[in-house]
Amino acid sequence: MRYLTIIFMLTILLSSCGKKDQKPAGDSKAEKEFTEFVKALETKAIPIYKDMNLAYWNASISGKKEDFEKNADMQNKYAAIFADKSLFDKLKKFKESGDIKDEILKRELTVLYNQFQQNQADTAKINAINNMQNAIEQKYGNFRAEVGRNKLTDNQVEEKLTKSTDSKELKEVWTAQKKIGTVVAEDLKKLVKMRNELAKSIGFKNYHEMMLKVNEEDPEEISKLFDELDALTKDAFAKEKENIDNYYAGRYKIKKEELMPWHYQNRFFQEAPKIYKVDFDKFYEGKKLDEIDMKFYKSIGLPIDDMIKNSDLYEKPGKNQHAFCTDIDRSGDVRVLCNIVPNEKWMNTMLHEFGHSVYSKNIDKNLPFFLKVEAQTFTTESIAMMMGRFSTSGPWLKDNLGITEDEAKKVAEDGFKSLRLQQLVFSRWAQVMYRFEKSMYDNPDQDLNKLWWDLVEKYQLLKKPEGRNEPDWASKIHIATVPCYYHNYLMGELLASQLYYYIVKNVIKSEDYKNQSFTGKPEVGKFLSEKVFNPGMKYFWNDMIEKATGEKLTAKYYAQQFVK
Ligand SMILES: [Zn+2]
Repeated sequence: MRYLTIIFMLTILLSSCGKKDQKPAGDSKAEKEFTEFVKALETKAIPIYKDMNLAYWNASISGKKEDFEKNADMQNKYAAIFADKSLFDKLKKFKESGDIKDEILKRELTVLYNQFQQNQADTAKINAINNMQNAIEQKYGNFRAEVGRNKLTDNQVEEKLTKSTDSKELKEVWTAQKKIGTVVAEDLKKLVKMRNELAKSIGFKNYHEMMLKVNEEDPEEISKLFDELDALTKDAFAKEKENIDNYYAGRYKIKKEELMPWHYQNRFFQEAPKIYKVDFDKFYEGKKLDEIDMKFYKSIGLPIDDMIKNSDLYEKPGKNQHAFCTDIDRSGDVRVLCNIVPNEKWMNTMLHEFGHSVYSKNIDKNLPFFLKVEAQTFTTESIAMMMGRFSTSGPWLKDNLGITEDEAKKVAEDGFKSLRLQQLVFSRWAQVMYRFEKSMYDNPDQDLNKLWWDLVEKYQLLKKPEGRNEPDWASKIHIATVPCYYHNYLMGELLASQLYYYIVKNVIKSEDYKNQSFTGKPEVGKFLSEKVFNPGMKYFWNDMIEKATGEKLTAKYYAQQFVK
């Protein structure tokens, strides 16, 4: 009881400071009731939330079936809290009354309303969708591209596409792997319609709109951002595409006009060719990446020593082979899973994951539980990306690995050129994904095969093989398993550039945007902590960005960094 009173008082103190003209929290009857409502919800949700995250952490390390089952069980329990219709009705009443005026309480109401709303659909509908998605996922998992007598895994396909220089073989492999599209297309169309039905049942136009809106993304704003970025990258990409095509024409000893989608060393042309050859791995050979990471973050005023201790960073049998960061309890227990090998890829990953970790750790712990979380998925992604980019930066290598000035200069130019090329190629590919999904959910009965190739030709400047009319769109697994999410990757990149420019100009106070490593500059950490991390979800994400940088999210700085 005493504990609850203290929390209650704290809420009043926190939310009333600095705005004398507003009523303190819980002043009105409705605000008092809402505060009680949230408290009851927290009491239910917090222990399950923590158990759920711990179960996932344990499962990822042990790989044991029972640990995964415990995690799934906890996930269902957590979701069930927000599926409660009577609680959602209460929230609706609070919302409609307009009586919740305190800034923090109002924000909590919005965040909780969104979370409840997306869990309100009929359980039978949700289960049917999950089952369908699982069945489709299994088909992706079981599919092997058949080339001659060989059955190839995705990794083997990628390897062939990357290494072979024989156009006939490349065409064969590319065509064979695209057959997964035909295997799943009809089911996938059904799934899209089921998702649309679910979205309509809770008041949205379609599933794409729902996915954006429940994450506080206005579909029109996002489309505007993508248009802005399209206009900014179009010419630079077309120019680079010429270079890429010249490079490939030489590689395959064919005419530029003969280049086809299978010549781009990748199933979707989502990655740039390695035209600029710098061997970054050699700098990391035999190095202790966790120590380098720890020293770097400490030098920018964001120590990670405690989180490194709680993390699991090296390979083990049965362990998850990828990497992630998890905030177990929103009270300081933040952990990272990695499988470090001393090479560039893992340095990038370590910088990336601990970028997430410093964000989570530095969110104001006095905020109420439901706001004690990153402003948006892509805002934490942006910090991770901004830090990850350093692994191929000449200045960063000089400051953190002690390579010589000469070496640093040598790699700086090529390192930047390859990063730029990668960004341009990826941004055009993300345009295809965003626009395809948006249009598909808007009208799943249109000619999707044509839609896909029209977009690929327009944004990626690839040539559709003559007469091809296959569901190539369905060969991208994200469309089935991570729907309507791709735009967040690109928004993360945009914000990474926007923050980087702001920091260089206003925090480090330099005009040199190229040769920065942030190393030894604690003012960088101070700025990020105060302006980006600390507010958590207290503000709508674009308000947070505006308060931190003076501008809403814009493609301008990404373009300055990578287009010019
Ligand atoms: Zn990430």
